[in-house]
Formats: sequence, structure tokens, C-alpha cells
Amino acid sequence: MSELKLCQGPACHTYTTKDRLKGPAGSKTYQTRRRSSMYYGKGNFCSMQCYNDWAEEFSDRAIDHFGRLTEPKHLTEDNAWVKQYDWDRNY
Ligand SMILES: [Zn+2]
Repeated sequence: MSELKLCQGPACHTYTTKDRLKGPAGSKTYQTRRRSSMYYGKGNFCSMQCYNDWAEEFSDRAIDHFGRLTEPKHLTEDNAWVKQYDWDRNY
């Protein structure tokens, strides 16, 4: 069995769904979701909401850390992922 990962959403525990309510009877608390696999943000977030919460809080810092785009990129033949050709469609 693969290891459980915690959702990285900063507000995950504040969404009061039943599956987040964990702990011994009588002292249950809403907790960050833990799952073996998650589908958002490269498997780091349990929902689009948590992904957005993270982006809202950390995007600026993350972009500044990894390099903010200051000029538009240009699509050229050298950096294109795919090349599209205009075929003559004569069937
Ligand atoms: Zn979450």
C-alpha cells in the first residue's frame, strides 16, 4: 500500500465535510485530508478548491521564487511542442 499524502491546501481542514472529521470519539476535529492519491495539482491537492486556496496564498511567492515572466514568450519553430501543417485537403 502506498503512503498517505496530506492535501497541501492551507484551508483544507476548514471545509467541514464528514470525511475530514477524525479522531477519538468525543474529541473529533476537522482535519486536513489524507489520501494515497489525489488528482489535483500533480497529486498535491484533494480538490480544485484546495488547489485554488494554495494558489491564492502562495502564487506570488512561488512565482517570485522560480522566476517571474517579465516579457512575453514567442512561439517559434524551435520551441513549439507540435508542428501543424496546412495540408491541401483534396480527397
Ligand atoms: Zn484539501
